[in-house]
Amino acid sequence: MSEPSVFTRILSGEIPGDIVAETDRVFALTDIHPQAPLHVLVIPKTEEFRDVTELAAGDPTLLAEMVGLAREVATRHADGEFRLLFNTGPGAGQTVFHVHAHVLAGDLGEKSLVG
Ligand code: AMP
Repeated sequence: MSEPSVFTRILSGEIPGDIVAETDRVFALTDIHPQAPLHVLVIPKTEEFRDVTELAAGDPTLLAEMVGLAREVATRHADGEFRLLFNTGPGAGQTVFHVHAHVLAGDLGEKSLVG
């Protein structure tokens, strides 16, 4: 067995974290290094999936639940509009291999990241 991820350790109460919302299968955690006025991570309670490609193939309903919780948090804590980002692989900046979505909201400026 590998060590539990940092997110699992927060969920179990082993280390502190600011959990702002949860459902049966998903929770939302304030990012410790925020990159936007609202920066929350939406995370499945299971750490079965390392990244979004594994999750989409293995449990697309769970992926949809993550999007739903992202929307709920962005509505409750910002204006309901948000950027959803999955770093996928170390070369793309992924550092925690327990799938999670970054939810960025608040004053993001008018420009998107691409285009
Ligand atoms: P990624 O680089 O896409 O794997 O994202 C991992 C994210 O987890 C980063 O944005 C970190 O700031 C965040 N993070 C790491 N440790 C913690 C923690 N203890 N509490 C909250 N967020 C964390």
